[in-house]
Amino acid sequence: LVLRSLPYGEADLVATVFTEAMGVISVLAKSARTFRRGAPRSLEPMHTLRLGLTERPGAELLGLRSAAIEVPRLRLTADLERMQAAGRALRWLRRSLPPRTPEPETWNEITCLLDALDAEPAARPASLLLAEFGVALTAALGYGLNLHGCVRCGKPCDLARSAYLDPSLGGLVCRHCGGAGVLLRAELRGRLLALYSGTRGALIEQDAQAALELVDATLRAHAGVEPDGGPKGGASG
Ligand SMILES: [Zn+2]
Repeated sequence: LVLRSLPYGEADLVATVFTEAMGVISVLAKSARTFRRGAPRSLEPMHTLRLGLTERPGAELLGLRSAAIEVPRLRLTADLERMQAAGRALRWLRRSLPPRTPEPETWNEITCLLDALDAEPAARPASLLLAEFGVALTAALGYGLNLHGCVRCGKPCDLARSAYLDPSLGGLVCRHCGGAGVLLRAELRGRLLALYSGTRGALIEQDAQAALELVDATLRAHAGVEPDGGPKGGASG
């Protein structure tokens, strides 16, 4: 999956790619911008590609020998809302995954998300699919929030009540410990816990916005992911 590609030199491209076997890598596509008609399409994001790669001695970038679309997602790429959701998911990956580290769980989650965004008719709203992916991603990265009790004093929190949450501290903060900026409703907390325990499709449409904000706050706190940062993360390796 291509996370980003940037022009390089006269005719080349440098692409940041999330692969099943190697995790996030950077590849140099020689002459990609002067490919014969039709070919550059094969480095488009959103489709699952099969890449032929070459290690280049002493070089940080892998060479790209060939690229072919293995799983095309044409309905996804024809719909702006779905494209935006997928684009945000790929940005999260680019900025939070370490280089050259296989991430099978995250690979599975992102391909499931892209397939769901490509389904016709859409099973569920794009923002909801994205929110659930984000929660699963943060959990897979080890940034899952402690939603059972206060992260400061350890006091368990009544599941039937809303609670204060500080994503940068990694979970709930009880009133006694000063509370925190986000008030998490009991219903949403229950559905997030269901997602953590592996229940797919646990969120409902009204949760999407709040869940997306939690994912953004969590990634910002743990991985230094800015909502729209510069060329950092994923590109080195
Ligand atoms: Zn406390």
